[in-house]
Parts: sequence; structure tokens; C-alpha cells
Amino acid sequence: MSTTKNGQEISMSRPSVGEAGRTGDWRNDRPVMDATKCLAVKQGRLTCQICWVYCPDGCIAQGIGPVIDLAYCKGCGICAQECPAGAISMEPEADHGTCAIDAATAEEAGR
Ligand code: SF4
Ligand code: SF4
Repeated sequence: MSTTKNGQEISMSRPSVGEAGRTGDWRNDRPVMDATKCLAVKQGRLTCQICWVYCPDGCIAQGIGPVIDLAYCKGCGICAQECPAGAISMEPEADHGTCAIDAATAEEAGR
């Protein structure tokens, strides 16, 4: 995709939610936000939003604080890397009881 700015054509990517399918179905790690550390929440204003800027899947909605749509998050961890306040951490899906492989293993074991 490209767009024209100041008379020059520049390359530009505009990801949209769900463009790559329900990537949340095969995610290994999920981003977990600690709102108490989020700069936007602390300031009570629509500031920062760096996580929204960097998410390649466009699955973070701007807000005070931002909201992650886990159905379309692939767990890349970019938001956690880029958050200047350390407000987002990546946690294994298995810790949330949502890992499909773990569920199948538990079923086989009769748990
Ligand atoms: S990048 Fe971090 S501090 Fe900034 S809005 Fe997102 S969660 Fe909040
Ligand atoms: S881990 Fe963060 S940056 Fe990566 S897809 Fe999920 S919400 Fe977006």
C-alpha cells in the first residue's frame, strides 16, 4: 500500500484487525497489561499509545488504557517490547489454561 504525502509517494502499511485471521487461536504467549503502570491511565488522558502504534495486527484499541483484542493477537510481544513503562508483559498461554496442546494432553490423561 502506498500514499502520497507532500507530493511524494511513500510506502505505508495499514494493518486491520482480523486481516490475518484469528491469530489468537495459535498464540503461545499472551500480552497482559498492568493498568497501574500504563502512562495513559496514570495521566488520565489519551497519551502514549505506543503499543497501539506498534502492534502489527492492529488489534490494540486506543484508550485510557488501551485494550488488546486477544482473538486477533498473535503474541509477537512487540507491544511489550515497545511499552516505555513496562506495563505489558508476555505470559505463557498455558498459565491461563487456554493452550490447546495442554488441553489435549490433559484430556488424554483423563484429567
Ligand atoms: S505503550 Fe504502555 S504506557 Fe503506553 S499506552 Fe500502551 S500500555 Fe500504556
Ligand atoms: S503481542 Fe502485542 S503487538 Fe503482538 S499482536 Fe499481540 S497485541 Fe499486537
